[in-house]
Amino acid sequence: MVQSSVLGFPRMGRLRDLKKANEAYWGGKLSKDDLLAEGKRLRLEHWKIQKDAGVDIIPSNDFAYYDHVLDHIQMFNAIPSRYSSAGLDTIDEYFAMGRGHQKDGVDVPSLEMVKWFDSNYHYVKPTFQDGQTFKLADDPKPLREFNEAKAAGIITRPVILGPVSFLHLGKADRDQTVNPISLLDKLLPVYEELLAKLKEAGAETVQIDEPILVFDLPLKTKNAFKPAYEKLSGSNTKIPKVVLATYFGDIVHNADILPTVSSLYGLHIDLVRNPEQLETVIGSLGSSQVLSAGVVDGRNIWKTNFKKAIEVVETAIQKLGKERVIVATSSSLLHVPHTLDSEKKLPEEVREWFSFAAQKVKEVSVIAKAVTEGPASVREELEANAKAMEARASSKRTNNPEVKDRQSKVTAEMHERKSEFPTRLAAQKEHLKLPLFPTTTIGSFPQTQEIRIQRNKFTKGDITAEEYERFIEKEIEEVVKIQDELNLDVYVHGEPERNDMVQYFGERLEGYVFTTHAWVQSYGSRCVRPPIIVGDISRPAPMTVKESKYAAKISSKPMKGMLTGPITCLRWSFPRDDVHQSVQAQQLALALRDEVVDLEAAGIYVIQVDEPALREGLPLRSGKEREAYLSWAVNSFKLSCAGVEDSTQIHSHFCYSEFQDFFHAIAALDADVLSIENSKSDAKLLKVFVEEAYPRHIGPGVYDIHSPRVPSEEEIKNRIDEMLQYLKPEQLWINPDCGLKTRQWKETKAALVNMVNAAKLFREQH
Ligand code: GLN
Ligand code: ZN
Repeated sequence: MVQSSVLGFPRMGRLRDLKKANEAYWGGKLSKDDLLAEGKRLRLEHWKIQKDAGVDIIPSNDFAYYDHVLDHIQMFNAIPSRYSSAGLDTIDEYFAMGRGHQKDGVDVPSLEMVKWFDSNYHYVKPTFQDGQTFKLADDPKPLREFNEAKAAGIITRPVILGPVSFLHLGKADRDQTVNPISLLDKLLPVYEELLAKLKEAGAETVQIDEPILVFDLPLKTKNAFKPAYEKLSGSNTKIPKVVLATYFGDIVHNADILPTVSSLYGLHIDLVRNPEQLETVIGSLGSSQVLSAGVVDGRNIWKTNFKKAIEVVETAIQKLGKERVIVATSSSLLHVPHTLDSEKKLPEEVREWFSFAAQKVKEVSVIAKAVTEGPASVREELEANAKAMEARASSKRTNNPEVKDRQSKVTAEMHERKSEFPTRLAAQKEHLKLPLFPTTTIGSFPQTQEIRIQRNKFTKGDITAEEYERFIEKEIEEVVKIQDELNLDVYVHGEPERNDMVQYFGERLEGYVFTTHAWVQSYGSRCVRPPIIVGDISRPAPMTVKESKYAAKISSKPMKGMLTGPITCLRWSFPRDDVHQSVQAQQLALALRDEVVDLEAAGIYVIQVDEPALREGLPLRSGKEREAYLSWAVNSFKLSCAGVEDSTQIHSHFCYSEFQDFFHAIAALDADVLSIENSKSDAKLLKVFVEEAYPRHIGPGVYDIHSPRVPSEEEIKNRIDEMLQYLKPEQLWINPDCGLKTRQWKETKAALVNMVNAAKLFREQH
């Protein structure tokens, strides 16, 4: 029979229960025992959902209180001594690494946290020492959770991050020089020990994730796979059968480095992202190896097209036979919300198109049944699915002929500003009359308690639209006054009306829908609720003009309009899977283009289009695919901005300054001014702007906005001095790293006073 399998289930619970429990524990309002009990309750509930859905292979150890990579750091005792020597309880040591610890005389910052592949999930980066050793925890978590499920009558397949990925995803600790991959020989015995314990406890198979196989890898890492797995499994009968899992890309380019046939029971591949790898991968399997076919999307919320998925699985079955094929989710379901059942406000029509984690686990089991027993065994499900697919494809919501018509008329010229930068700059100088070293901020000012209260009241209908509007105007008046006092050069309206930089725009565009409970873990206890793009996107009416116009009217200095760019709107939403992302980006760009033109017509002559998500959309491998992405991404940004006069100044903002990999794309955006994060990075990163003779203006952030700390004038001055080693005085803008919405007013004002004073000092000198 064809088995069904899930690679991992979301951890938060139906109502973000884990977030609530963690935060209560951190705040001292929940005991450790109660936190652990809540974790246990959630694990059991999630196993049961999968069991009831008929899933054959249910994962364990996919749960984590904070992050699964952090679980491995602790389980293998790869704990930097600043944490292990603090004398903390095991769980507190764990959270200290994840989020820092500042209590009872212990003061340690967190380990670094970075994006998990190209998803919006963040993992804690393993951080190794010269002379690093490893040791398996006494009661390793995978074993504990396997036994816990077993006690509840469910035999699970433990999920473990593979040794090569664990090392490759890590780094040497600061001041250390160790190359993580060189630690493999020391790490393998610990894996062996863990796997043997799992086998002893009754685990027949384990899922070992080696997702880095989708990357282009350095030689040393490539060469690690074969020997590692030979050693781990090979003919070792003391350990469970290994299913090696890869996801978020194809592994064809790494086929030659895959562990040997004798050491792997099965291989899992992502057939949602890269269906074309099926044939090659099947060809490379040994005569008894099993293929786990990831056909149910773990990264998006759309219902699986059963017909198509069954075809893919049947292709595999024809070559391998039923016993050697498993139907699986493409990746862990960590990246999708818990259940569709919680959504009471979705349009009925649209609801039928979605499938969240609790629905996807049923999908794998239906597909497995269809191919095992024949379609008749699940006729009802198949018919309902076909109907939903058909309804979605032909819905008015998905297809807007006007949008398609407009897209067909987009020309190359529409992407270009009227003149080259020097001409634009001259016109902008004349028009805006800005001093040397102009000062500005990135958009948002502190989102106070009062703002949140009023927004809630408005959402609940406790105050009228007019009352709310008046409140927003008052907030804008306030921030304009503060900017007058601070003597900044380019003002912002402060974004008090925005709940979130993508949702705000999504709510004003056709083609989007919103959920009430569809939270996805971003990191630790933090969850996001991405809006969903369901259809062709258009802008029924201006989205930001009212607020910006009001702000400009009451300001004595240029007011900067503030928009979220097309790529960021796309990346921070669940995109459609029925049209290419470039098409969706272009639709967003056209909607934003109208907004930009309307802002200009309303007297806003500086317009910032934020694109912090541009880099995270980069395909995981360099080469053709990456270039194709950059080409359409850059084009959509340009299309959104290019409708204005030369004298209107276009800004863009990025929350990082590592552009080395794709500098040509940043340059190609042709933005008049770029503001970037820089205060926490090495000023040397600015070198690329010199090397590439970047001609336009740049505002590398002069202070960190993530901390309440107030930088002194001297500190900011030194930072600017450093920047001037790389940038020309006439190129340099003076601004913070990012928006100020998470800050308090007190430190914000103090920091900006110092920033403006530092800028003045340089103005006098030049
Ligand atoms: N304009 C936005 C703000 O100031 C930019 C936020 C971001 O880059 N993430 O909040
Ligand atoms: Zn930012």
